Amino acid sequence: MRLVILGGGESGVGTAILGKKKGYEVFVSDFGKIKGNYKEVLIINGISWEEEKHTEELILNADVVMKSPGIPDKSPIVKKLQERGIPVISEIEFAAPFTKATIIGITGSNGKTTTTMLTHHLLKSAGLNVGLGGNIGKSFAWQIADNKYDSYVLELSSFQLDGINDFKPHIAIITNISPDHLDRYEYKYENYIDSKFRITMNQTEDDYLIYDADDEAICNWFKTHTTKAKLIPFSLTKIFSEGAYIKNNKMEIKISQEEFTMDTEHIALEGKHNMKNAMAATSVAKLMQIRKATIRESLSNFQGVEHRLEKVLKIQNVQYINDSKATNVNATFFALDSMNTPTVWIVGGVDKGNDYNELMSLVREKVKAIICLGVDNKKIIDVFGNVVDMMIEVDNMNDAVRMAQRLTEKGDSVLLSPACASFDLFENYEDRGNQFKQAVKNL
Ligand code: ADP
Repeated sequence: MRLVILGGGESGVGTAILGKKKGYEVFVSDFGKIKGNYKEVLIINGISWEEEKHTEELILNADVVMKSPGIPDKSPIVKKLQERGIPVISEIEFAAPFTKATIIGITGSNGKTTTTMLTHHLLKSAGLNVGLGGNIGKSFAWQIADNKYDSYVLELSSFQLDGINDFKPHIAIITNISPDHLDRYEYKYENYIDSKFRITMNQTEDDYLIYDADDEAICNWFKTHTTKAKLIPFSLTKIFSEGAYIKNNKMEIKISQEEFTMDTEHIALEGKHNMKNAMAATSVAKLMQIRKATIRESLSNFQGVEHRLEKVLKIQNVQYINDSKATNVNATFFALDSMNTPTVWIVGGVDKGNDYNELMSLVREKVKAIICLGVDNKKIIDVFGNVVDMMIEVDNMNDAVRMAQRLTEKGDSVLLSPACASFDLFENYEDRGNQFKQAVKNL
């Protein structure tokens, strides 16, 4: 069997290692350059590869092709493969049949990484031999080749789900759905929603789907579609006989006649969105039969993930918060919602078709000044120009942070939550967040 892998990054090289181990004839082809350390791994393992080209004779003779998530379906080589009926699949589809481990798959528009890390933390702290993969960390296929774990918590993007046929997680989570990446879905929101729900398409009556029952797109989907999986909804506003919810400042989870309760004030993560993430992760922990005391302890010591509502420093009683990962309006909505002091808000970057009006009432209520940090800030100025007292444009992070400091007084907060991608002024969201933190430390 000839396995061709498009893309020589973490998931491509991981798949190559697993394919080789399972007796495939493996070839890796990358249209860009392959990083030095990955090249070394390919060479040491005797795997053939090419870079800066796709040689058709070496690709179109594949029995199966693994496409890395960064490569669009529209790319010419993928089209040619599809025309010939050669299966093009994702890393998780290729790798999953080679393990008996329990798989927990997490998708959604926002909150995937936080929920994945928290779920992993809950299971690992309970002593399970559990791996972490998908969009984060080491390649899933690679870990399976090394035969490491009894269960995996996987963060799954819609691109990875587009490349599955038979893959099924035992436990699936859909954190929420709001418009994102529509350029890859012919600008049709339905296509993007359907893509997220592929996570449950192969699930059976023995599997579980945990989902946000407050989410409009998710609830609408259930009106016209079904899944065989057992449903576990979570909500901030509704109450369930089977599911997770918040009542009188307590998180309550009811699953299979078992109940778990915890005061929300003892949960280390803050903000309503994080209560949702906590409900989803704790539902998994309950399904995996983790002891209540262990769950409580882990929820109270999990400090969150870098660049997601990350508290940086308090200077002269002003709290600086780094939410650089907020690259869409929905993420910023929850960031503003979680603020309980007057806030100087740093926003802007590359906008993916944002409707800022969704933030209007929160901005009126909480924001005292806006600092626009982008190349083109016109839309933000148009929407909020008359709403806040002070609006300033800057083109670098040091100026943004220094300006913010000048506009604050004791008890205020400064929030970087851009609602936009970062590549007009920064390399990526991590670079933007790191520059923010450095600028705050320099104050
Ligand atoms: P993802 O991996 O899906 O991008 P992250 O956990 O990295 O999600 O969070 C991305 C952004 O969304 C951050 O700004 C974070 O504060 C915000 N966020 C986290 N969880 C949620 C949620 N459940 N709903 C809305 N926004 C969220």
